[in-house]
Amino acid sequence: MHVRKTLVSLACAAALSVAALPLMTHTTPVVGLRHVHAAVSNRDINAQSFANPQITTYPTTFTKYFGYRNGVGRPEGIVIHETANSTSTIDNEVAYMQRAWPTTYAYVHAFVDHSRIINIHPTDYGVWGAGPAANARFIQLELVREHSDEDFAASINNYAYYVAYLLKQYGMGVDLADNDGAGTIWSHNAVSDWLGGTDHTDPIGYFKQWGYDMNQFAALVQQKYDALSDDGGGNNNGNGANPGQPIFDTVANQQSVDLLGVINGTATNGKYYLTDAGFTQAGTSASENGNAYRITQQATTTNGTSMYLMANASGTGQFWVISSIVSTEPRPAAAPAITRNQNVTGTLRLTSSAILHNQPGDGTFLKGLTAGTSWSVYKQATLSDESTWFNLGGNQWVAGNKGTFNQASTPPPATGGGSSVGEGEVTDFRAVAQINYVPNYGVVMWTGAGRVIPGRVLKHGTRWAVFKAKKINGQTYYNLGGDQWLQGKYVIIQ
Ligand SMILES: [Zn+2]
Repeated sequence: MHVRKTLVSLACAAALSVAALPLMTHTTPVVGLRHVHAAVSNRDINAQSFANPQITTYPTTFTKYFGYRNGVGRPEGIVIHETANSTSTIDNEVAYMQRAWPTTYAYVHAFVDHSRIINIHPTDYGVWGAGPAANARFIQLELVREHSDEDFAASINNYAYYVAYLLKQYGMGVDLADNDGAGTIWSHNAVSDWLGGTDHTDPIGYFKQWGYDMNQFAALVQQKYDALSDDGGGNNNGNGANPGQPIFDTVANQQSVDLLGVINGTATNGKYYLTDAGFTQAGTSASENGNAYRITQQATTTNGTSMYLMANASGTGQFWVISSIVSTEPRPAAAPAITRNQNVTGTLRLTSSAILHNQPGDGTFLKGLTAGTSWSVYKQATLSDESTWFNLGGNQWVAGNKGTFNQASTPPPATGGGSSVGEGEVTDFRAVAQINYVPNYGVVMWTGAGRVIPGRVLKHGTRWAVFKAKKINGQTYYNLGGDQWLQGKYVIIQ
């Protein structure tokens, strides 16, 4: 536990994780390291000849972008944390922090375990991990707890590599601060000792469980740092995430936005992840064509390109695209009141991509509809903000300004038949037909053979049960029983 000098401290930044997670199970046999519950030294770690790990970057959910006290992209060192949670995995920790930071007020740049490094926020910007003094100065990394000598050794190898990698990237040297309050490598404990604003002691106690300490860790960072200097970046070529992928551009500035958008994806436009090195392409936007997302961030790149962070319904960022390929709508907190709601029939042809909403004007997004498609309309609503919305059946609504509405000249029947009747085919169709002609005049009936039935006129406004429908030469006829048919253009089906 992280009981510090005076009080029982809160656990480390990432340690407020759920307690109900299953215990990590250990099916991997311990090989190589023979001692159990004995000290793990740098010599043990090096004896494993671990490969340098890949650095994976997840889109950040931390929307409180702020530069360090010396500016964006100017950290002064790195804080070494451990999660203080013996039952969590790296996936648990990442998911929890990405979801819970608005209430826990804790966010770090990355998590490291025995097999992975997962970055969750650009290291050019500060995070909330160790009190105001450290947050304004340092990159902050969390180590996930391990349960075997070999996994602990691998996790420390990965941790030291990533610390060295970042120190190198930002032109910071290797200098442990724990002993004198100055330097580039700070345990959270050293922050508590020398800078204040926090009282955590990690990772001292956890390291001690493995016979390890900060001095050994700094020495291993120095070794990794020197190796990076020698070979120009080790396995990753100093390139951060997705080695081999070209970097599109870097962030000049970034801000929170709150929009909905449909991607008009093409094979030429990209889909990007934001890594420490910049926007890295991960496929084309064609795979996202027509898909709807929330948009939570807008960034302008160094070369002036505007980018959107596409997020899921709960606001978790998924990937970035160039903003010009996104059709956007505002995302209102609440839908304006409906001032008029009427049944209409017709077709809406979309002139731009649109979002299908649960209710007219609300912030939901069921799916995206692409420009140029046409949809049957059943209702039309007018909202208190004077916007018009069309209902496409069920709880599916589209903003009227996304397309052109053509009202049907003859209302189609309420169920079946009518315009959906195939040419020449007779279908069962039960409804009430009201004669719609000219007041005080009437319409004639026809036989199935196309002859007028003499002596019968059905007056305007009268209502008749119909039983069948058919279409001849594009015109719909309704059957009144027996061999008596009405021309559909003179009736309103009710
Ligand atoms: Zn900590």
